[in-house]
Amino acid sequence: MLLNTSKTQPGPNAAGTAVTDRFARPLQDLRLSVLDRCNLRCTYCMPEASLDGQGSFLPVSRLLTDDELERLVRVFAAMGVHKVRLTGGEPLLRPGLPALVKRLAGIAGVSDLAMTTNAILLPRLAAELAESGLGRITVSLDSLDETVFTEMSGGRGSVAEVLAGIEAAERAGFGALKINTVVQRGVNEASVLDLVDHFRGSGHMLRLIEFMDVGNMNHWSPAQVVPGAHLLKQVHDRWPLKPVSDQQAGETARRFEFLDGQGEIGFINSISEPFCGDCTRGRVTADGVFYSCLFSTSGTALRPLLRGGLGDAELTEFIRSLWSQRDARYSEYRNGGEQVRSKVEMFRMGG
Ligand code: SAM
Ligand code: SF4
Ligand code: SF4
Repeated sequence: MLLNTSKTQPGPNAAGTAVTDRFARPLQDLRLSVLDRCNLRCTYCMPEASLDGQGSFLPVSRLLTDDELERLVRVFAAMGVHKVRLTGGEPLLRPGLPALVKRLAGIAGVSDLAMTTNAILLPRLAAELAESGLGRITVSLDSLDETVFTEMSGGRGSVAEVLAGIEAAERAGFGALKINTVVQRGVNEASVLDLVDHFRGSGHMLRLIEFMDVGNMNHWSPAQVVPGAHLLKQVHDRWPLKPVSDQQAGETARRFEFLDGQGEIGFINSISEPFCGDCTRGRVTADGVFYSCLFSTSGTALRPLLRGGLGDAELTEFIRSLWSQRDARYSEYRNGGEQVRSKVEMFRMGG
């Protein structure tokens, strides 16, 4: 049996229209890509060389407008989605992001509005985003070593800029941040303990992510993955850890706390320990294509429906029907030896 038993339950929602998929997984989280463009070119996500000749970014006319995004989130929230994460591409590049955040933060049922960002533009935007009602920020940072960082970011941005972004988020009142580090064998393995040392005791939680086979541009191979168990041992040998007692079903990270009281660290072992059984996440691209799995090869365009005069009730019914047919569990199939071709790129789908 591949699929883990789901421990999640459909969440409460105002309209009483919670929906579950074929494996009884409720739709509770929405990853909303607000833009496919980015100011970095991370080699594991949007490598410059592969980008050439692979088509252009979305023209502005194809992006969902703020009105459309607000409407869509309202519809999802009425179906039981309470967590919304803004992502991309780089969400901070979307013009007028604080105004959009304010509209989304005001939607009934959305209790957790978060954003994943490379942090480069946070010094400019963090205060306004806090005032607009953004609840949480996750920052991606793969190394504290400028040379390694630059190698992984495709020569753009710098560690200093990301750290300035983190400080700006702190000043704006975003308390505990999550710091995401994608670990790639032979590239930034040696950066891991420095990152742990830096963020232990800072109030932020470092999360070490196994390099995933999202999309096709990054030319992923299993040999480039450092298993989370190996990283856990490495960290534990230096700073002893114990599993946290309040681990929630549906959490992507396995969390551990430092025995010396210096906070927590997370391990996102998507390759070695897939968590499809508890996956309650749907995704919508910046041009309104709905995907039920990070590794989907095709999605469903919602933009024509939004622009074609469909009412909220019909839209709700349509999305309910999509989710109720969902049987996605790619990470478990992959480990069973199955490979998917033509996967959608992470920066297009929203990480
Ligand atoms: N640009 C923003 C950022 O980097 O935080 C948001 C979008 S990015 C696609 C979202 C997250 O996906 C980042 O934390 C990034 O490190 C992660 N990511 C991208 N490609 C990945 C891959 N192949 N394997 C694992 N994580 C990946
Ligand atoms: Fe941009 Fe984020 Fe992808 Fe890096 S991981 S290229 S910052 S979208
Ligand atoms: Fe969810 Fe798909 Fe990832 Fe499994 S592979 S955890 S179903 S996004």
